Amino acid sequence: MILKERRTDVNSVTNWNVPLVWEGTFDPVVIDAIYKRMDPRVAVIVFAIGKYTQFIKAFLKSGEKYFLVDFRVTYYIFTDHKENVPQVKLGRSRNISVITVPSAKRWQEVVFGRMKWATIAIETQIVNEADYVFMMDIDSVFHNRFGAESLSRLSAVLHRIYYKNTHRDSFLYERRPESTAHIPAGKGDYYYTAAVWGGYVEDMYKLVKQCYTQAEEDSKNNIEAAWQEESHLNKYLLHNKPAKVLSPEYLWSDYDAVQADIKVVRISQLVKDYAKVRPN
Ligand code: UDP
Ligand code: MN
Repeated sequence: MILKERRTDVNSVTNWNVPLVWEGTFDPVVIDAIYKRMDPRVAVIVFAIGKYTQFIKAFLKSGEKYFLVDFRVTYYIFTDHKENVPQVKLGRSRNISVITVPSAKRWQEVVFGRMKWATIAIETQIVNEADYVFMMDIDSVFHNRFGAESLSRLSAVLHRIYYKNTHRDSFLYERRPESTAHIPAGKGDYYYTAAVWGGYVEDMYKLVKQCYTQAEEDSKNNIEAAWQEESHLNKYLLHNKPAKVLSPEYLWSDYDAVQADIKVVRISQLVKDYAKVRPN
């Protein structure tokens, strides 16, 4: 890899020896060219239920500018308001597929529902249409390149609040042994965000299916994991290590000041009025 300067201020490998991706640890031209040879089909699964359809336009417009430019991308928009999906001009080999799902009374239903509906859509449709799948929050805007360096068998993003924290016992993992998402004290690698993750379609299918199954089991036992699907995702990734870990460059937030080691914000989540956009 030819880079102008080597970064020494961040870790660029995990302790199970896979890349921890930061700006300055890869050559964007070289890595895009390597993956372009396979010309993978990339699916992006996003949910826009209820008032969240207002976020679709900025997500797609910015995605067209920065997300895997020149790659084959299909945005799968899961919504209960098909009529509110805006027209956005897409690049060549890029498409939108709208999938209708039921409305929800509680936002928790929506976030858990992502695992369920993604499981169903991958097994019935997406498995035939994509090589890689990403799951993303819709209240997000791309600000800079999000390229092929993000692709792997399973890629997860460090949560911006915890990435400097080495005390795993302070992570927001589910701690109650009654939940299937439970991670005991002393265990854990990182705390990952549930707002962006991706991987091979087969690996993503296994992941979402297991998280969905576990959430159903919890629900039968009248327990809901502390951070919903994020708790289940973290549990899964503890036992099925990601093949790439992405720095918080890949999911920052407009609520938080950008830290010195974040040289590039690739996606940032919008500030939103929770009382106005959520159903509860
Ligand atoms: N979402 C939705 N409708 C809702 C609540 C959530 O479509 O009423 C989807 C949407 O894709 C959103 C994601 O679930 O980005 C996660 O919820 P949210 O962004 O509100 O969680 P936060 O990032 O604020 O924790
Ligand atoms: Mn969000």
